[in-house]
Amino acid sequence: MTTAETEFLSRTIKRDEIDNYLIGGKDFIDDALIERQIAAGAKPQKSRVREIISKAMSIERLDPEETAALLNVEDEELWEEMARAAGDIKRKVYDNRIVTFAPLYCSNHCVNNCLYCGFRTDNTRERRRKLTLGEVRKEAESLCKIGHKRLIMVYGEHPSSSADYIADTIKAVYDVKVPARNGFAQIRRANINAAPMSVEDLKKLWKAGIGTYQVFQETYHHKRYSELHPSGIKADYKWRLYALHRALDAGIDDVAIGALFGLYDWRFEVMGMVYHAIDLENRFGIGPHTISFPRLNPAEGTDICDNSPYMVSDDDFRKLVIVLRLSIPYSGMIITARESAEMRRKIIPLGCTQTDASTRIGIGAYSEAAEDQESDRQQFMLGDTRSLDEVVREFTRMGLITSFCTAGYRCGRTGDKIMKLLKSGVEGKFCKLNAVLTYKEWIDDFASKETRAAAEEIIQKEIEQIKNDPFYRNKKLLSTFDDYLGRITNGERDLYI
Ligand code: SAM
Ligand code: SF4
Repeated sequence: MTTAETEFLSRTIKRDEIDNYLIGGKDFIDDALIERQIAAGAKPQKSRVREIISKAMSIERLDPEETAALLNVEDEELWEEMARAAGDIKRKVYDNRIVTFAPLYCSNHCVNNCLYCGFRTDNTRERRRKLTLGEVRKEAESLCKIGHKRLIMVYGEHPSSSADYIADTIKAVYDVKVPARNGFAQIRRANINAAPMSVEDLKKLWKAGIGTYQVFQETYHHKRYSELHPSGIKADYKWRLYALHRALDAGIDDVAIGALFGLYDWRFEVMGMVYHAIDLENRFGIGPHTISFPRLNPAEGTDICDNSPYMVSDDDFRKLVIVLRLSIPYSGMIITARESAEMRRKIIPLGCTQTDASTRIGIGAYSEAAEDQESDRQQFMLGDTRSLDEVVREFTRMGLITSFCTAGYRCGRTGDKIMKLLKSGVEGKFCKLNAVLTYKEWIDDFASKETRAAAEEIIQKEIEQIKNDPFYRNKKLLSTFDDYLGRITNGERDLYI
């Protein structure tokens, strides 16, 4: 490790920004209690499971004991009931919308040594690179040209990709504006997946216009966490566990949790996420904006990805998504291109609200000619590399409307305000109007002939539904919607309600 890296390690972790949040010196994950709760939930009675399902259907977050009971269900019929409820909850809160985004990898320099990741410092086969701001703009331009409006920007943890660099890259992508078929295209929301930071650094990201701040705990199990993170800043479990607490204290509105499934027992990780949501709710009055549940994928220079004893089967993956949907019913749920197209088709109807498309995770891979996937410049291997157009077309055929809306954030419908609106179903009403407007805009600017043909029908159906819904008539929103729809058809862009 270079002197700069060693110095970086010692100055990054602010001990008081962990201790502030501990209760009696302890964090909110009690491994032994979780194990006991999982064991105590064994063989739940059908009637009890049905009571829990109906609590989730009223968009109430479940208690850990209730989640533990669901995790223990063995009866296949009950699993199917739970799967139907998961889909119903999604439609109740988010209707038939799905949001798309693209990851933008900015740097793969990293001081950490996560045993599952191709970017880890000991992997000498990885080609290291940090994008200049000009290169970040080029990547964003390439993504704008195919119609992406939302990014998740990803960084290794390294002195060269400090909070200042991250803030500059956020500003760089917001600067980009490219012509489209009928108007222009821009990135409207830059979400970040980066290492835990201090409150002071997080304030810099907030000022730069960060969307959601996403940090995955990887595994919530303390001992397993230590085994998998033998060195570097990431070896400190608690610094990571409170990353999102610090973000909310720094003024960032939306935070996102996740666990990397395959590192430890999947049931334990689901419980860990529920406890994480509860602690955020108790302290800040809001839970996670989104939940991610990536599964371990093969990565260059790692052994664990091929032989972890905790790999999650497709059946168990389906179960964990169902239980998460029921346990934290108000949060968005993200499934990524780590999963194959076939798997995504099976999982999305269980309650997912966001997914990526036309994904490349090599540094510079959108704007530079590259092979389909290059293992020595990307973090892991992808399961689905279909284009945004293909993915939108498939959603259209599944009856889903792809929303490119970012209006909620820009109208201040974030944080605790959006949580209340989501729980009451009102956010969904605004979203529907904006979803149709942004979908229409995207179809006019970027869709292939085939996708456009499939989309016309669903747009007409949505417009009919809107016109017949008393909510819109009473709120006098219909005339604004009609006006905006006409203006978008004539080439005006970025109109939202
Ligand atoms: N370096 C930052 C960190 O670790 O928080 C952010 C970027 S890291 C590249 C983003 C996420 O990728 C990690 O949180 C981890 O969950 C996921 N990841 C790492 N290796 C993976 C693998 N082999 N398969 C699937 N996901 C992986
Ligand atoms: Fe670095 Fe993040 Fe990969 Fe760990 S997961 S090695 S911190 S990039």
